[in-house]
Amino acid sequence: MSVVIDSRPRKVGSVLRKNIVVEGEYEDKDIETDKTESGTQTRFGKGSKGKCSPSGMIQKCIKQIIIPNHKPKKRKIKLMDWKKYHRLNVIYAFIDDLERDYPAICTVTTIGKSVEGRDIKMLKISNSNASNTAVWIDGSIHPREWITTAVVTYIADVLVKNFHNLSNSITNKDWHIVPVLNPDGYEYTHTHDRMWRKNRACYEGEYGVDLNRNFSYGWGNNGDEGSSEEPNNVFYRGPAPFSEPETAAVRDTILGSTSPFKVFLSFHSYFELIIFPWGFKKEPCPNYLRLLEGGAIMARAIYNATGMTYKVGSTKDMTYYACGTSIDWSYAIAKIPYSYMIELRSKKHKFRLPKDKIAETCVEIWSAVEHFMDYVDQE
Ligand SMILES: [Zn+2]
Repeated sequence: MSVVIDSRPRKVGSVLRKNIVVEGEYEDKDIETDKTESGTQTRFGKGSKGKCSPSGMIQKCIKQIIIPNHKPKKRKIKLMDWKKYHRLNVIYAFIDDLERDYPAICTVTTIGKSVEGRDIKMLKISNSNASNTAVWIDGSIHPREWITTAVVTYIADVLVKNFHNLSNSITNKDWHIVPVLNPDGYEYTHTHDRMWRKNRACYEGEYGVDLNRNFSYGWGNNGDEGSSEEPNNVFYRGPAPFSEPETAAVRDTILGSTSPFKVFLSFHSYFELIIFPWGFKKEPCPNYLRLLEGGAIMARAIYNATGMTYKVGSTKDMTYYACGTSIDWSYAIAKIPYSYMIELRSKKHKFRLPKDKIAETCVEIWSAVEHFMDYVDQE
């Protein structure tokens, strides 16, 4: 389950030239790109810790130039796996590689740009059958919920690498998978603040809109109970519905789709819940029982896979008023009948789910998704 992303050997000369140039620009560029591999290591290996003094740079360059047989270190190979949490570039390289290796069923598109200009990438997995319905899956709309991106990429991996052996209820869907819906926030949780929840927009001198309060349906309802109008609040809903490019990208992709969406799954952590509309009011949604039963199907599959118990119910019943959420919008406006938020593990560790729990969380959720697709086709 690992992917070699860049193991191509480079010519010595080109590497030397690259090192000389790149080291001069080191503080601007390399920390940003190379920290992604291990958090602190640079391409020059252990010991440099992301710092590079000018005299050190010169000495290193001279050493490389005057020793003809010096072998430059190969670039560290980036591996996608589900043994640890990964930075954005590893995630994006992973889906790009799926597209390269499985071009018949995989397409990667950029559905929008984040506030800070990062790509919001989506992997579409499809056999291009015109009668397919569509599934939406997103992770890390709340960036501190790292397990969501791990689970979503795992689902993509299983789908792509087993596509022709999977059941008809899986292969008759166009899968739209956005592993990191909030890439600015996701990177920020790796570089600055592990507990960051919002995007990185700036309003009135304060950073961040809670993207899961920025969708239009029920936006701003219930005052402070459902979201906040204060930019410094963790639940700040933004100045207007869809004020943020990340939420607008979801809207435009779904409403612009040629295949009709049947399922919308937005992944969160850490309450171990499967919840559905409404969040903006306490009344049950129109097909409450059908959604409840679908949630129960997923919860049973999870229990059978790992013994974990996920509870099922409406957003308001199981948590609190949440207004302007993606699933209230997808259900009411985009008319996606099976719209759920899945709150992954763990109540014990909260947002800091240990990496040794990633794999079994992936397995239980894949089982849930697989069984659920049979259910949504039984109509
Ligand atoms: Zn969340």
